[in-house]
Amino acid sequence: MEENSVKKKNTYYRNRNRGQRFYKNLKQYSFKKLSIIVPLFNEEESLKPLFEEIRKGVRNLQIRYEIIFVDDGSTDNSLKIIKELGKRDTRVRYISFRKNYGKSAALNAGFKKATGDVVITMDADLQDDPLEIPNLLDKLEEGYDLVSGWKKIRYDPFVKKYSSRFFNWVTRIFSGIKIHDFNCGLKAYRKDVVKSIYVHGELHRYIPVLAGWKGFRVAEIVVKHHPRRYGKTKFGISRFFKGFVDLITVIFTTRYIRRPLHLFGFVGALSFVAGFAIDAVLTFFWMFYHKPLSNRPLLLLGLLLMIVGVQLFAIGLLGEMMVHKLPAEDDINIKEQS
Ligand code: UDP
Ligand code: MG
Repeated sequence: MEENSVKKKNTYYRNRNRGQRFYKNLKQYSFKKLSIIVPLFNEEESLKPLFEEIRKGVRNLQIRYEIIFVDDGSTDNSLKIIKELGKRDTRVRYISFRKNYGKSAALNAGFKKATGDVVITMDADLQDDPLEIPNLLDKLEEGYDLVSGWKKIRYDPFVKKYSSRFFNWVTRIFSGIKIHDFNCGLKAYRKDVVKSIYVHGELHRYIPVLAGWKGFRVAEIVVKHHPRRYGKTKFGISRFFKGFVDLITVIFTTRYIRRPLHLFGFVGALSFVAGFAIDAVLTFFWMFYHKPLSNRPLLLLGLLLMIVGVQLFAIGLLGEMMVHKLPAEDDINIKEQS
């Protein structure tokens, strides 16, 4: 009897110490719950290994989590596999689109569904490394709202590597946001960010720009990148054209949506003044030196610039009229209030 109770006591203490040691090794965060969002389109081979790797990545974190798979209209067995994972682990949730809408739409749906106060996005193709999750969270804890991965050493085809470098350079100049890799799939966000940006079209490439211009603090850390293990890339050569068009959309909708006349009016006025100056000079020579105008093609250029200038200005004015109809509070990003 006596011996038995001593044994029990010892086991109790051993387990308690083990537990304490276990919890001491866990990393503490101010965040309560993490949502991991994985957009995917036909990635059946990668899903199971990815799931295991994610679990490894968050194992030592003292934080609850959920994994949200967003199946972007896959035509292979991806959805079936996700459902199986969901049966094994209740932290797995999913959304499945009826057809392929693109990565931006998938991310946006995931953002809406997320219940965590911190969100991580990562690609499903095992190119992003879930072991980077703690590093991203550490950086967020420094006070940033969005931390983007930087695939400093990346395993992608030559053409893509260099065109992407150029892309990033252009975006950096136009946006004023000083990071190197805008389109990295691996990113961490505070909840406020994902609930206040709207990602559509192919705008997922510019999420740091959308967030940065809304006043969120954006940072970057170098992350590990891997070659694609299964399947192939879902973005063809058209990504380059679309990328540039989207940059224009981003600039317009974030910078000028409230003041279209500043953009159209400025360009229009410039064009008008140039045209007016050209024709004024021609008129001067015609009046005082009797130079004929009929053999001066420049005259037409002047006219063209003036007409285009007036038109651009008028578009800007029309834009202003529409903006006045928009509710003002829509795009004001409130940090706190009581
Ligand atoms: N993806 C998606 N919908 C699409 C295209 C891609 O959800 O229409 C997912 C894809 O499954 C992957 C991630 O977006 O998880 C990144 O795609 P991919 O690896 O093809 O892009 P890359 O690494 O070549 O830039
Ligand atoms: Mg990839």
